[in-house]
Amino acid sequence: MIKVHRFSLHIKGCVKMKVCKFGGSSLADAVQVGKVCDIVLADADRRIVVVSAPGKRDSDDIKVTDMLIACAESRLAGNSAEDELKAVVDRFASIQRDLGLPESITEEIGSSIKAIAEGDHSEAGKFMDAMKAAGENNCAKLVAAEFRRRGVEARYLDPRDAGLLLSNEFGNAQLLPDSNENLAKAFDGYEHITVFPGFFGYTSAGDIATFPRGGSDITGSIIAAAVHADVYENFTDVDSVFAVDPGIVPDVKPIIELTYHEMRELAYAGFGVLHDEAIVPAVHAGVPICIKNTNKPEAPGTRIVLEREHEMGRVLGVASSDGFCALNISKYLMNREVGFGRRLLQIIEEESLSYEHMPSGIDNMSVILREDGLTPEVEEHVIQRIKTELEVDELGIERGLAIVMLVGEGMHYAVGVAAKATDAFANAEVNIEMINQGSSEISMMFGVKAVDRKKAVTSLYNAFFKS
Ligand code: ASP
Repeated sequence: MIKVHRFSLHIKGCVKMKVCKFGGSSLADAVQVGKVCDIVLADADRRIVVVSAPGKRDSDDIKVTDMLIACAESRLAGNSAEDELKAVVDRFASIQRDLGLPESITEEIGSSIKAIAEGDHSEAGKFMDAMKAAGENNCAKLVAAEFRRRGVEARYLDPRDAGLLLSNEFGNAQLLPDSNENLAKAFDGYEHITVFPGFFGYTSAGDIATFPRGGSDITGSIIAAAVHADVYENFTDVDSVFAVDPGIVPDVKPIIELTYHEMRELAYAGFGVLHDEAIVPAVHAGVPICIKNTNKPEAPGTRIVLEREHEMGRVLGVASSDGFCALNISKYLMNREVGFGRRLLQIIEEESLSYEHMPSGIDNMSVILREDGLTPEVEEHVIQRIKTELEVDELGIERGLAIVMLVGEGMHYAVGVAAKATDAFANAEVNIEMINQGSSEISMMFGVKAVDRKKAVTSLYNAFFKS
């Protein structure tokens, strides 16, 4: 094997470090994996490569993670899941074959996934996470093998060996503090390429736990922070972050630079390009993030930085998301009742619901929740408890809401932003169900009916970007 020494041109001490993460569409087939390797090899600073599981090859395709979930569900329902298992292994086999990698890789992948599927599934959450993680884990092994096939020294690193420790909230895990030091040690002194699977880590008890869906972005950010990378490059399938969803406004302009705060707000409210929980680790370590396109790596992308120059009153983006509902509560003299808000939130907490916003008036309060957490059974229980424990006058639940957010550092201290937005809504005949602005003043949230969401976004875009 011919070894390519990628670091020979670097003077000791001056070597930079770039952590790059590639999303599912960048790894969907052998051609895409080839592009990933080309991108990494084009820059000797790109030494840590975090990968997702193979994603969709076209709009009708199924992501490997979804295939693994189907497999786990079938096993949990008491079936053999043979067909589902075969479909997953076939996806990996086609990538291995088209890359010209040895057959033995697929054999290993097949037997390792089968072993998980046939293992203990008495705890559904734990079992599901072990199955889901197999997508990223095997993809990382394949990509590392492809680097080696090209004569480049590269290792696959297991998150267990790297000490990536997570809480045991299966499917929604969070980083445990010891991980940073462990990760820094695991990468220290290794000069070649490391391919690291995204999306999962291990609990202190040694079980696999995954982040929420799309969580490989979080892994990349955590590693970039732990190794104090010069930049965290997040490769996806769009050239940049856009000021609004191009699916709603096709001729929208790209955003060249935005702050961590702006990205966090936009990602929270529906900008799917980067997971909203992927911002914080990099922020804390002061690592800039760059969103880039695997299919067009020469494009400058979008940089996410700590601070940027901004113009007073300038809105940077409009984000929107469906799937919200509001618990609307009224009680005469609510403002005089000390502890009312706390007791209301305590009920929400005890029902394991996380609330998103809480706009209030003198005698009324709304709690905005994600609709998917409020199943009919939970809803009945929550309503019953609020009625009896808080003795409210009126209580209603409004489903089918969307949130629309205006975001921009320039909105801080600016006069007239809300007036311009409400004017735009009025002209478009969009009824505002609620308005909320946090103390940071860099975002303003509007609750509207989900059916009005696109109309609301377009009207704000026209008002703030076209004039
Ligand atoms: N493969 C996982 C998912 O589809 C995680 C990721 O891609 O970041 O959610």
